[in-house]
Amino acid sequence: MPEAQDTCSVKTTCPYCGVGCGVIATKDTGNNVTIKGDSKHPANLGRLCSKGSALGETVDLDNRLLTPVVDNQQVSWDEALNTVAQRFKTTIEQHGPESVAFYVSGQLLTEDYYVANKLMKGFIGTANIDTNSRLCMSSAVAGHKRAFGTDTVGPCYEDLEQADAIAIIGSNFAWCHPVLYQRIEAARKKNKTRVIVIDPRRTHSCDSADLHLAIKPGTDGILFNGLLSFLMKNDCLDKCFIDQHTEGFEQAIDMAMSSASDIDMVAHRCDLNVKDVTEFYTLFANTEKFISFFSMGINQSSSGVDKVNAIINTHLATGRIGRPGMGAFSITGQPNAMGGREVGGLASTLAAHMDFTDADISRVQRFWNSPLIASKEGLKAVDLFHNVREGKIKALWIMATNPAVSIPNAGAVDEAMKKCDFVVVSDCTRQTDTTRYADVLLPAQAWGEKSGTVTNSERRISRQRSFLPAAGDAMPDWWIICKVAERMGFKDGFGFSSEAAIFREHAALSGFENEGQRDFDISGLADIDDVEYELLPPMQWPINRDNPKGTQRLLQNGRFYTMSGKARFVPVQPRLPVETTGVRFPLVLNTGRVRDQWHTMTRTAKSQRLSRHIREPFVQCHPKTARAHGLVHGQLTHIESKWGSVLVRTDITERQRKGELFIPLHWNDQYSARARVDAVVNPHVDPISGQPEFKHTPVMAKPVLHSWFGFMLSRKEYKLDCTYWTKLREADNWRYEFSDSEAHDLAWFKKHLLNGRDYEWVEFTDEINEVNRYLWFDESGLQGCVFTAAEYEKLPSREWLSTQFTEFELPWKHRVRMLAGENDSNKTDCGEVICSCFNVGKKTILEFIRNSTSANVEEIGEQLRAGTNCGSCRPELKCLIKEA
Ligand code: SF4
Repeated sequence: MPEAQDTCSVKTTCPYCGVGCGVIATKDTGNNVTIKGDSKHPANLGRLCSKGSALGETVDLDNRLLTPVVDNQQVSWDEALNTVAQRFKTTIEQHGPESVAFYVSGQLLTEDYYVANKLMKGFIGTANIDTNSRLCMSSAVAGHKRAFGTDTVGPCYEDLEQADAIAIIGSNFAWCHPVLYQRIEAARKKNKTRVIVIDPRRTHSCDSADLHLAIKPGTDGILFNGLLSFLMKNDCLDKCFIDQHTEGFEQAIDMAMSSASDIDMVAHRCDLNVKDVTEFYTLFANTEKFISFFSMGINQSSSGVDKVNAIINTHLATGRIGRPGMGAFSITGQPNAMGGREVGGLASTLAAHMDFTDADISRVQRFWNSPLIASKEGLKAVDLFHNVREGKIKALWIMATNPAVSIPNAGAVDEAMKKCDFVVVSDCTRQTDTTRYADVLLPAQAWGEKSGTVTNSERRISRQRSFLPAAGDAMPDWWIICKVAERMGFKDGFGFSSEAAIFREHAALSGFENEGQRDFDISGLADIDDVEYELLPPMQWPINRDNPKGTQRLLQNGRFYTMSGKARFVPVQPRLPVETTGVRFPLVLNTGRVRDQWHTMTRTAKSQRLSRHIREPFVQCHPKTARAHGLVHGQLTHIESKWGSVLVRTDITERQRKGELFIPLHWNDQYSARARVDAVVNPHVDPISGQPEFKHTPVMAKPVLHSWFGFMLSRKEYKLDCTYWTKLREADNWRYEFSDSEAHDLAWFKKHLLNGRDYEWVEFTDEINEVNRYLWFDESGLQGCVFTAAEYEKLPSREWLSTQFTEFELPWKHRVRMLAGENDSNKTDCGEVICSCFNVGKKTILEFIRNSTSANVEEIGEQLRAGTNCGSCRPELKCLIKEA
């Protein structure tokens, strides 16, 4: 085959997380995409994590939605758009604007977000548009607004490198924001930065930290009130800053002193030891350049907003804000959560960081020249779906997200969508847990095809540029929204010809009647032409007349966006989680991400190397918890709460606190039988932000003792009807793990797998050991194999068997070896893949470490290459060295 030539290299942005790394995507004539980090992009300076590095493996058309669909029939764009516009119009005419809603996503580009918000708030006239970013950082937004008068993220990534100490609070940033982790680790070598991790779990972020506070879930407010009291008692306040630039200190300190004045009491209530709490407080008190970096562990709580303010209070009290290397720094989960905040994608904000005040409503309506405008906040995500279930929302449009998996009490979300009169889903993915409820499916362009802007966690706006042709009939989200708006009779407000035109209007709105009262101002970009938009370099807002090249750091001059211009201390009365454990539900469930999966796996599960890091959904628990509840490592556990249940593999580890469990959020009905963890999670929300309490659900756990286990490797994808199954993609085949309470025989598999076709079957049965093995072939050769056993341990290694799928032809000798499950000498089984870039497994690494006298991460890299590309596995390598 002739070698494919480079046809184009395009600078764009990674679509996975709020770090917002710049990538260079290169497509060859065979449409193969290679990805590398953009060394000129200030967010990552060339670095990428494992997910970003594998982006090229996720752009295929498998499971892509390629045409519009109405009532399960493929239709033209015209018909689909008319159907959506007509049904929304009729619903509004009959039931009023409050009877419709949009549920959008931090995956949308800013331009998509802008027109969705404009249509709902400015033309339909209700604020019933909320975003899945509600689930990840709305508590930070509300906390910022209470303290600063506006949703301002002051610090930048460089501050993480300039700090002398960083507290990582409620974040496994080594896995969730790996490039920032790498930046901090690199800076630590030079600056000796001290790192404290505050997290109930001992995650990989803790492995290189100087101090880990394994805090009792939900008690962060007590810990930070305790810090404020400590600063007061030890005379470590910046009284000048407090007097000149803040208000409300007296009330805040009174509350802190009354709730957490004594370190012994704080340590007791947070279940920490006094020495560690004292060390943290002393370090904060003595370190001017201190960053408090916080994420989901703080935000996803029924008291998330208060926790955010408890953290900010400590920075206001010490004047450590707005200067290099210091501040309270909220990191977002999604790539464009910040862009959503800018346009007003949250039901609780209007647009361009304006709120539902009379002045802002009038200003936005005049700017949009809109017929009517929402006059009050709309329904926040959990409430929104509750109203759908109650029948109050009758038409719902879901854009670029998967609420059937990601919203707590997900069973109720299923029910809501089932009941809803009219559900539209615009997405690039055909089959998700949510698309199954859609009356209309609208094919949206995917990453690589679409063009626009995103904003990362340090306010940096970057271009996402297209480098692939649109798949099938897929169109940009902004185009779909504008076409529906036109058909609803709003032609004047939505006649945009390009994403650049939308961006210019968005930029102009940010500067409209803004004489410095509003932080979000990118009016300096309101007049850029299409070429300038195309070439727009990454820039941090505000970008205006005074700051034409952007602004690295905000809140620098001690001036805030409140009426008085002063920052506000917020008195925090610590509140514990709403749901408490008891006899029926004695354990606390926490949820979160794993290193190599993203959101609900719709993209990352396409990459076989990402799927090999963690292959099955799991529950982690402490050995003592496991003993108390009869759980066995590697066996299945049934977890149940008031709201639902899951069935997952058990992972016993001392990284968990006793009595607490952790399950990853990614798995769903497309990849497993019953591992959709948000079916279990409680739907309680913070009363101000509406952000759900994903980190604290009381549950029970019990072992599930199956008597039949197996795995299947097959070229085709199947749906297995077993009590437990999971699937993942490998290089040349799908891999399934399954088990059940009773055995299934060959006839059962034939029924599931034949699909009207006849195959040649080769079988082997060992009745004494209750082991069955089947291979099946068609005229082109090997199609699959199934191995079952009465004991899980009697199943052979899947690694070597997978390698047999590289060839279709399989001589008899090899067939016999396959049936025997022979893998020569076990050498091909490298175990769980730790380094996704070079496919280096745990067993290989452990063997190398044990045979070396002084193994360190660098030596592992030199000899095995592990950790030498994206670096995402370096925390795990350190951990394996300790383990070995
Ligand atoms: Fe993408 Fe990883 Fe960068 Fe996040 S840290 S933007 S996932 S490359």
